Amino acid sequence: MSKFLHPKYQSLSCYVPGEQPRDKAYIKLNTNESPYPPSPEVIAAVDANAVADLRLYSDPEGKCLRQKLADRYRVAPENIYLANGSDDILSFAFMAYASDGEPVAFADITYGFYSVFAALYGSDAKILPLREDFSIDYRDYLGIDRTIFLANPNAPTGLALSVENIEKILESNPGRVVIIDEAYVDFGAESCLPLVHRYDNLLIVRTFSKSRSMAGARLGFAIASRGIIEDLNRIKFSTNPYNVNRLTLLAGAAAIDSDHYFIENCERIMKTRTKTEAALSALGFEVIPSKANFIFAKHNAMSGEAIYQALKERGILVRHFSSPRITEYNRITVGSEEEMASLLATLADILASS
Ligand SMILES: *Cc1c(COP(=O)(O)O)cnc(C)c1O
Repeated sequence: MSKFLHPKYQSLSCYVPGEQPRDKAYIKLNTNESPYPPSPEVIAAVDANAVADLRLYSDPEGKCLRQKLADRYRVAPENIYLANGSDDILSFAFMAYASDGEPVAFADITYGFYSVFAALYGSDAKILPLREDFSIDYRDYLGIDRTIFLANPNAPTGLALSVENIEKILESNPGRVVIIDEAYVDFGAESCLPLVHRYDNLLIVRTFSKSRSMAGARLGFAIASRGIIEDLNRIKFSTNPYNVNRLTLLAGAAAIDSDHYFIENCERIMKTRTKTEAALSALGFEVIPSKANFIFAKHNAMSGEAIYQALKERGILVRHFSSPRITEYNRITVGSEEEMASLLATLADILASS
């Protein structure tokens, strides 16, 4: 840190992304990427002509992709906002609705970025503990008159709230924005999309990173009332109008055009998830039933940390969090069938020799 940094940033604790080691080839099950490549249409869209066009700025309004997303999700283009990854949208939402002492609420165990943004923007954050079984009690959020951030399904637990209960939260906090982070919704949970036309305080955040196999392209989008989308644009056009690059806009449009490919992949991943959950249980793991592309599990014969280390030594990366309530767990991304077979064989081996 230099002596020039503003004091308000000197005590920030940054978000720690999942490790991306380069020392050897790992089976990577630690950052919830897709095991499958983007669709052939996406790969074809980013061609030499597209690269040659990089001398030109990207469309600051992302018209083509916004129109495709609007058609796909049955809203107007004015209800869609595009971003350089969905983390950018979460950041803007904190800036717009929860900065400088404004009240915000989120769970104690949830996406780690919420507490980082709350500190960055000086929010007055109320942390609401999950129940003992890691489920969210929606009643904790009724009428609390705070901006609310909910990951649905939640990370790293994989548990989801019903749309019916989210609607009660929206209804009881009409003066605040409720942000529903649907990063994993394509893997079997209910989306809040049908509520967008009825609640002007609902902001849905989506990403191409997980279910659409495009984590490296950095593409997120928001669906919300026109007013909220205008708020996000206000901040974007005051910071970085060309926030989504040309190649990513093309790739995103091609991904929507080849939607069947993405739906098949999600179905494949859900099938692999069900199989892996059963196999982990058979190995003695306690598995939380997941609606996401990861599985949160612990074993009573071995600590979460020890399992994480033993897997890493054998070339398999999973995500271990050291926060007290979840330190016995590991979050395991659902990879390909082959990757899961290696994981299960390796775990059987580790447990047998422990
Ligand atoms: C991965 C993830 C994101 C961030 O996704 P990007 O679009 O890659 O920035 C947001 N929210 C949750 C809950 C996530 O797990």
